[in-house]
This record gives sequence, C-alpha cells and structure tokens, in this order.
Amino acid sequence: MKALVLEENGKLVWRERQLRVVGGWYRMRIAAAGICGSDIGRGFKGGAYHYPLVMGHEFSAVVEEAPKGGKYAPGTLAAVYPLLPCGTCAACAKGFIQLCERYDYFGSRRDGAFAEELYVPESHILPVPDGVTPEEAAMTEPAAVAYHGTHGFEMGQGASALVIGGGPIGLIAAQWLRIRGAGEIAVADIDPLKLEFAAKFGFVAMDAEDATRSSRSADYDVVVEACGVSATRTMAVELCARKGVVSFIGNPADDWTFPKALFSSVLRKELAMRGNWNSVPDPDWRETLEHAGRDLNLKDLITARVPMADGASAFGRILNHEGFHCKTLLVN
Ligand SMILES: [Zn+2]
Ligand SMILES: [Zn+2]
Repeated sequence: MKALVLEENGKLVWRERQLRVVGGWYRMRIAAAGICGSDIGRGFKGGAYHYPLVMGHEFSAVVEEAPKGGKYAPGTLAAVYPLLPCGTCAACAKGFIQLCERYDYFGSRRDGAFAEELYVPESHILPVPDGVTPEEAAMTEPAAVAYHGTHGFEMGQGASALVIGGGPIGLIAAQWLRIRGAGEIAVADIDPLKLEFAAKFGFVAMDAEDATRSSRSADYDVVVEACGVSATRTMAVELCARKGVVSFIGNPADDWTFPKALFSSVLRKELAMRGNWNSVPDPDWRETLEHAGRDLNLKDLITARVPMADGASAFGRILNHEGFHCKTLLVN
C-alpha cells in the first residue's frame, strides 16, 4: 500500500510502504485524516520518535477485512481511538488508559493514518452513526480531546466562559461549553483571522493581547486554555472569576514562572486548576459521535481537503502560512 512517509525531519514522501499486519485486528481503509498541530512539531521540528514514520492520529476508516469472529462487518465506517494502552501499568490498572505510562500511539509511536490502510484492534473501533460523514468522523479525536477538557467539573447554567486559543480544539471546546449550557462564551486569540472565524460560530471574539493589557477585571467562571504558552496560561488565571475553574488543554511550549501575586490570586479567588490529557473512548468519543452533525458543528471547521498523495503540499501551505486554515483533512 501507499503511505505519506516521514523519511526524516521535514521530508514527507508519498510512496510504497509495507503495511504492518497484526493478527486478530481489522484491516481498515483510511477515509480521512486530519493534520494536527502536533504533526507540525513531529514532522518538521524534530519531534518524531523515529524515522521513517507514518503520521496521522485523527482519522476515520472503513472496515476492509474483519478478523475471524469480529463484530464489525466490512463496509463499517468508524472513528478510531489512536492510543494503545499497555494494560498493565498503574494508570491502566486504575482504568485511566489515557494516562498509561507505556502507551503506543497510531501516528506517533507507530505508523498511523496518513496512508491507504492500517490494522486496528476491535476495542479501538467506534462505529459512526448514520448521518455523520467520514470527514466529520475524522474530527472525533480533536473533538473528544476538547470534550475531555470541558467536562469533569461543575459549571452552572448560564456560566460565563472563555476559551483561549482559536484553533480547532479551542473552537470545539467553546462549542462543548455551549452544549453544557454556558451563557456568554468568548474565544481569545492573537490572530485576527482566527477571531473572525470564531465569530462565525457565534462566539465573542477577544483580542488576546488587548485582554492581557486592559481587561484585568474581566472574570469568567470557566476558562479553558488551549494555546500552551506561558502568556496564555497567565491570562487564564488572571481572567478567571472567584471560585472559577481553569482547565488546561494546551500542550506546554515553554516554561511558566508563577509570580507571587498571581499565585496569591489562585488562593484568594479559590480557583480550581485542572490538567487534561488526551481523551477516553467513554464518554469523550461516545458523546462526540452522538453530538456530531447535530449541535456539534465539526464540518465547518474543515477548511481544506487534500488528496492523501498530495499531503506534503498541504503541510507546506500550513508551514508557510499560506491562507487561513483551521483543520486540513487528507482524504483517500
Ligand atoms: Zn492531534
Ligand atoms: Zn498502561
């Protein structure tokens, strides 16, 4: 089969690649796979675990061949949970598979979905309900990560919410907060194009630089940090209301110093600060598939669809900041 192979840092080639056959797993044909921000670091900033590697962890696929006794028939469209937990570590023993100490992962630690085919275990196959397209289904992973970071804490009806970061995860997080019953929901970013895009989803656009300079009094009951830089982590704490919740999703890109006054505000406001890692099949993936195409708009986040074979050019456009993009899908 063919795959978009990362031969070395910065070099993606569409070429023949031996499919890794795993007995007892399903042979799946990839339908669509999203380019994640983490793939930029992995493929172009030396972040790969090894070479050659086939990236792609956000994807939908169709069962091509089921193992003997498998419960899903050929032709079944599925979203695929990409994290393969070890099953034996302390986290796995407690049922926190997303926190596994020795996990494997499609598209980072082992070959993933920027390819024609992939072998997948039955436990990781989530059939897609009728009415949800293969492209929407490919958005399940980021949507589930956003779900993970916006649930698991209490939030009153009509609560005010702020999401810092207007990328795909931020815009899905803001939608989940709306589904949970938040009142005013603001999305902050420094990129005016991202703010314009966020406004189309009905969110209040906030210039992140203005906000840190001027609106020290702003207070949001829930603040979701989906950027991962120290300035936005500080902003999240500053703009959170008394008794509020700060939920961190953004993978940290830098160190963060916590000045005494800022930390004092965590005490004085009695803030709850939550870390989030990855997602779990239930409820994150299940809820995502239930809401997709209904009150969860994933379709309009897709700003480009590129044939898998031309994947290198799609990465090139993102790296060169050519035009606005939210989520780019590679499709077979
Ligand atoms: Zn991702
Ligand atoms: Zn484990």
